[in-house]
Amino acid sequence: MNKKNLIFIGAPGSGKGTISNLLMEIAPLAHISTGDILRDEIKRDTELGRQAAVIMKEGGLVSDEIVVGMVKERLAKDDCKAGFILDGFPRTLNQAELLNKVLADLGMTLDAVVFFNVKDETLLARLTSRLSCKCGAVFNKLGMPPKVEGICDKCGGELYQRADDSLETAKNRLAVFYKQTQPVIDYYRTTGKMVELKDMDKEESMDLLKKELF
Ligand code: ADP
Ligand code: ZN
Repeated sequence: MNKKNLIFIGAPGSGKGTISNLLMEIAPLAHISTGDILRDEIKRDTELGRQAAVIMKEGGLVSDEIVVGMVKERLAKDDCKAGFILDGFPRTLNQAELLNKVLADLGMTLDAVVFFNVKDETLLARLTSRLSCKCGAVFNKLGMPPKVEGICDKCGGELYQRADDSLETAKNRLAVFYKQTQPVIDYYRTTGKMVELKDMDKEESMDLLKKELF
């Protein structure tokens, strides 16, 4: 794999987490999901977690300063030297600009920005039927069910529905995506680094990524 420093961008439910897990099976990439880091803060009941919980429950965005700080700290760790996937970050133009500075400071460059372009109706159906595991695996009651109901195929853990995967919050998250994150996509389009996965299933996405990144 020669393109290894990646951004995964796309609406909630567009498949960023699923494809991250598949790609990590074939390449030694560090998976940096700002959503996962924030959910971990909530679980540990930290001050930051308590602040973030209120915002996330409504489907809003946590402040740029907080998430950029988290990403900077994470990117500085050794395992990121072999390559990384930024999943769910940057989500605002300001985050994208700050990321450019962080990468320059760390002597890193971006190789590709993968845009998961999926229709709204598909997104909402996936989000409201999504089942998550604490190990990072994701399933879907409709299209991608676990082998045993309620149990993670990967680690045997108990699956749960995320607090923000209710229909109401999912709709809010989509609205926030179009308002705040669409401009980030338009920006990365101008860099010539974008790989677009348009309405593709898992297999088609992986085939295209292998062709583009390896
Ligand atoms: P999804 O992509 O399915 O919406 P994530 O796990 O990436 O889920 O994010 C869940 C929530 O965490 C977001 O709705 C937001 O509140 C917060 N969050 C995650 N990443 C960011 C970010 N880069 N900037 C601001 N808030 C974020
Ligand atoms: Zn699991």
